[in-house]
Amino acid sequence: MTDRIKNRQMNRKYKTPSIQKILTVLLGIFIILLGISLWSRSHPIEAHAPSPAIDENSTEETNSSEPLPSELTEPSSVTVLVDKYHSLPADYVPSDLAEPYVNSTGEVIQVSAKAADSLKELINAANEAEIPIYLTGGYISYDTQEDYYLARAKLVGEAEASKTTPKAGYSEHQTGLAVDFSNEPTGLGISASFAETDTGKWLYAHAHEYGFILRYPEGKESITGYSYFPWHYRYVGKDIASAMYEKSPDLTFEEYFNIAN
Ligand code: ZN
Repeated sequence: MTDRIKNRQMNRKYKTPSIQKILTVLLGIFIILLGISLWSRSHPIEAHAPSPAIDENSTEETNSSEPLPSELTEPSSVTVLVDKYHSLPADYVPSDLAEPYVNSTGEVIQVSAKAADSLKELINAANEAEIPIYLTGGYISYDTQEDYYLARAKLVGEAEASKTTPKAGYSEHQTGLAVDFSNEPTGLGISASFAETDTGKWLYAHAHEYGFILRYPEGKESITGYSYFPWHYRYVGKDIASAMYEKSPDLTFEEYFNIAN
């Protein structure tokens, strides 16, 4: 028993300095690691010293995304931009709504007075060319657009609805400058095949002469955010519509005004 106690005491005496040594070594390692850590922390800060380059980049980005000119943002402007990223105020109603009453399929189809006379000219010209043409859509109010979107989303889901139906405030029809055409008096069941009808072909070739552009051309979905709608035209005025058509019949509003969405 006595021997065992002595052995334990000896072991303790033997172990105690060993733990102190280990602690001392660990403390040394800790101090070295702390030193490296502090140095490496200070080092990247120095490396970031020429960070004004990053600031310059961010300044350039700010400069390149200057606010759009008022001709594209003023709701009553004939070239107001309305797309998936640019909306109209919920309470915006064109102050100059007129009723063309020309070959329209609905009870009353209203458009902005800015577009009404040109729209009548277009329809008369089509009639003279013996092209069947009917107006199926014009001004749509914010609230009605909201109903359309919610009904569509309920039917096909939000993801699918967003490809074809703008949310309230994001429809060009709220400007009173967008119109939908049909080759049939009912105007029902319109699809992309409308482009192959005489009416679709005539509009594609002549709408610009009356200040209207094909707003959602084929193959431009990534720019406009919407599918190909060969029946949807937008009034922008004869000068701009003709300038756009000369560049390309499929040039989008976004491309013409250099808008990066
Ligand atoms: Zn439309």
